[in-house]
Amino acid sequence: MKITFCGAAGEVTGSQHLIESGKLKILLDCGLFQGHRAEARRKNETFRHNPANLDAVILSHAHIDHCGNLPSLYRKGYRGPVICTAATADVADVMLQDSIHIQVEDARHLEKRRTTDQPRIEPLYSEKDVRGIVREFEPKQYGTWNSLFPGVRVRFRDAGHILGSAIVELEIDEKGETRRLVFTGDLGRRGLPLLRDPEIVAGCDILISESTYGNRVHQPATELKSELLQIIRRAADTGGRVVIPAFSLGRTQQIVYFLNQLNLTRELPDVPVFVDSPLSNRLTEIFRRHLGLFDEHVRALLHDDSDPFSFPGLTYVGTQQESMALNHRAGPCVIIAASGMCESGRVLHHLKHSVENPNNTVVIIGFQAEHTLGRRIVERQPYLKIYDRQYTLRAKVEVLNGLSGHADVNDFKWWYEGLASQTGVGQAFLVHGEPASSQALAGVLKDYCDEDPIIPELYQSFEV
Ligand SMILES: [Zn+2]
Repeated sequence: MKITFCGAAGEVTGSQHLIESGKLKILLDCGLFQGHRAEARRKNETFRHNPANLDAVILSHAHIDHCGNLPSLYRKGYRGPVICTAATADVADVMLQDSIHIQVEDARHLEKRRTTDQPRIEPLYSEKDVRGIVREFEPKQYGTWNSLFPGVRVRFRDAGHILGSAIVELEIDEKGETRRLVFTGDLGRRGLPLLRDPEIVAGCDILISESTYGNRVHQPATELKSELLQIIRRAADTGGRVVIPAFSLGRTQQIVYFLNQLNLTRELPDVPVFVDSPLSNRLTEIFRRHLGLFDEHVRALLHDDSDPFSFPGLTYVGTQQESMALNHRAGPCVIIAASGMCESGRVLHHLKHSVENPNNTVVIIGFQAEHTLGRRIVERQPYLKIYDRQYTLRAKVEVLNGLSGHADVNDFKWWYEGLASQTGVGQAFLVHGEPASSQALAGVLKDYCDEDPIIPELYQSFEV
């Protein structure tokens, strides 16, 4: 078997790994590279393999750095199955539709910098490519072995990272023996709201593990709920508004679920709550369709409350007019809007109208990348540039952690122990991490493997 790491090697985007066995070529994930626009574009539009020659794609989950370049595969001739869980198929469909607009916008920016001797820059892919690849999705259940080709089987186990996320178990019969490969996708955490804990799987000959937070320990998610309650109580007392920039997939639904719980226990003050993101609204509908995939707390809650994403006082904002009307609303309220790092989307309007009032609070949840407005708010910079105007930051800023969807070093240890306790691990590869994080995790993982873990470089191949 040969593995080539075509993405997420030494970095955290562009997940894509090619497995070759005999004449068979299977791609694990096909994510978008993100980051510097021109460099990301170069990486996203070229494949080291010929997409038309692939036999199958296996998709771990629907985050855009894992599924976002699937339409490029279709554009370059791939016609074959994309095997994933049913929830991933639903979520990826919505995420890829949304990605079309981002591709149009990126192409517009790159086109501005194009010199006259360069060809015109078109979006990376179009709606036709998205529709084409979505037609190829083949949803499968968790926990069931599926035969892909003679001598090739795949099974999905819950990764506990986002709705539909899976650990991939792949078994390939080669020269009379079965080779077993496990790919973590993105590994979730124990005790995250809504999601089941990551499933422990049996050991393997080859492990491909993510390593995003291989050198960190996260705060527990439960503390965030009570901190959120304190902030909303204070806003209710002072008549201020609470603006929460949040990612549309996962983070928004987790916050709404917490607020729903606080409402059920009658702790939530009588303050209207608005979710103002069309993408979040579409994704929440998909969450409602897959309630059976959530953890035991949600399943218990469903006996008394048929919809954990709705409570009196909560409004899902639709049109732009309704969104703008919130700017002139008097009295306290909570507004949850995308994007999570305040780089685009409706949250910018809400921040513009909120940051100069000391009675208001901006709640930043989780990691904010460098050079984003979210990061400048975390740093409490006195002036914020929103669109093309400067605003003075007078609102309170609260930074809450604990909702990261990625395993920390203790979760990894727990999961590796379970993996190794059954049949051990042969060769491990660490992907999807900055070098310092992958190296720290390699130090933990080596105790559970026959061979020292390898941190592959981009486009490096290994015979295993
Ligand atoms: Zn992910």
